Amino acid sequence: MHGSAGRDGDHLRSVSSILRGATMTPHIAVLGAGISGLSIAYALEQAGMRVTLFEANARVGGPLRSSRIDGYLLEHGPHTLFQRTSALASLLTELGLDDAIVDARESASRRYVVRYGRPLALPQSPAAFLKSELLSTAAKLRLLAEPLIPAFDREGVDESLANFVERRLGQEVLDYLLDPFVGGTYAGDPRQMSARHTFGMLKELEDEAGSLVLGALKRKLRTPSSETPPAKRRLLSFTGGLQTLTDALAAKLHGELKLSATVTGLRRDESSWRVLYRRGKSTAGVSVDAIVSTLPSYALAELRFKGVTPPERELQRVTNITFAPCTLVATGFKREDVAHPLDGFGVLAPRAEEMHTLGTLFVSSMFPERAPRGRVNLTTFVGGARQPELALLDDDAVIDLVKFDLNRILGLRAEPEFVHVSRWERAIPQFEVGHQLMLDAYASLEEAMPGVFFAGNTRDTVALPALLNARHDHAARVTDFLQLATSPASS
Ligand SMILES: Cc1cc2nc3c(=O)[nH]c(=O)nc-3n(C[C@H](O)[C@H](O)[C@H](O)COP(=O)(O)OP(=O)(O)OC[C@H]3O[C@@H](n4cnc5c(N)ncnc54)[C@H](O)[C@@H]3O)c2cc1C
Repeated sequence: MHGSAGRDGDHLRSVSSILRGATMTPHIAVLGAGISGLSIAYALEQAGMRVTLFEANARVGGPLRSSRIDGYLLEHGPHTLFQRTSALASLLTELGLDDAIVDARESASRRYVVRYGRPLALPQSPAAFLKSELLSTAAKLRLLAEPLIPAFDREGVDESLANFVERRLGQEVLDYLLDPFVGGTYAGDPRQMSARHTFGMLKELEDEAGSLVLGALKRKLRTPSSETPPAKRRLLSFTGGLQTLTDALAAKLHGELKLSATVTGLRRDESSWRVLYRRGKSTAGVSVDAIVSTLPSYALAELRFKGVTPPERELQRVTNITFAPCTLVATGFKREDVAHPLDGFGVLAPRAEEMHTLGTLFVSSMFPERAPRGRVNLTTFVGGARQPELALLDDDAVIDLVKFDLNRILGLRAEPEFVHVSRWERAIPQFEVGHQLMLDAYASLEEAMPGVFFAGNTRDTVALPALLNARHDHAARVTDFLQLATSPASS
């Protein structure tokens, strides 16, 4: 990625020994202390650099926020971390988190999707698939025809995810599998999203073999790559919730963490950068050798640039990346007041079912100790790119919509005992058709401002494991820049 793909901790450790030999320790500013900023700061420090981290909020972690209220453990943002690689497993060990990990219960592999107004379990075996009512017989036959569907041959055209899935797998797969999945994970609308930039692996299968099925078979027959050693696949959280992860990263940092410090501008000085920031009523600046910004793209529109003029069109492109709003409503019920067995991860609501919610997680079924004894803890997502206006309704209205939908699909016998609303007006960036232009714009901004690097979920990806993994690449880009800046050839 970003011209330094696949570089890992070993590369950084060897660079770190070079930097330690240099007379001055390079000083790097990291803007934003969400999971991206924290993990990049951690990687930079491991490579021997001094880091100052700037965060506008009074706390670190961005949407990773967990709190216990009235005996319910609430996640205000993400609920789970999906560990698929040994690199992530090693990071959690390094952070001393092994004893804090809680695995999702086995039953969490069961997921429901609403069809005909009721939750139907997603089939988990070929036999269950054949019996399932989730897709009609015609849709199942259409799936079998996938290898016969010609590949999209318009090179360079960025196809929407909806078009891609409808074309290869049929309308019902789009309506009852992809649409609810994308609504539940990206708060996204597949009609707007870029297939290449969100489900790139599927696009690659089509590019390689002309078919998803044939492409997957071909890959299976190939010898496994040694680049990403597999780990036990785990869907996990921590006893204190996901915030434990960002708290642990913050605790590992040695540099200065400036909280409640809103970055207001970047100034290019002769051979360094100055980060200008506001804290309460006072303003100040810190001079650094390089900057890694993990600020949400819209925050860049508020920055003043001095001594450098970033290309206007590219800056505008980046700052215009769409964000979907999302409101999370946590509800607590007595177990006997919800008719559904809640035996799974949760239930997703396809657009075609015309509901007011995107989906509901069965939080207390997934992880232990998320609700008081005899109670259940549910979290319902409202809004997203599908129905942004609903996320912006006031608390009473949004709670009413949630209760209406929960009653319809899970069967409520009483009012919730506990309700909590968490709002994210700009929850998740949408990688829409044409997203490559945004990535190119980021690259142009970096070219125009040598020593300033962009990272974070508007540039990299939305998923937590991938954001954590990206720390190596960003730290390597900084070390490459510093080596170039200090090499004799550059003077
Ligand atoms: C409701 C919700 C549910 C999600 N669920 C999942 C999930 O289950 N699994 C998953 O993998 N991902 C999930 N995600 C996505 C994931 O949480 C995000 O992609 C990730 O946390 C983004 O991290 P980041 O560090 O890139 O950005 P952020 O966390 O947004 O960090 C950017 C930081 O910059 C700070 N900032 C902004 N402006 C300034 C300024 N001017 N000066 C200084 N600081 C500033 C912000 O306060 C923020 O802390 C979810 C997201 C949301 C909102």
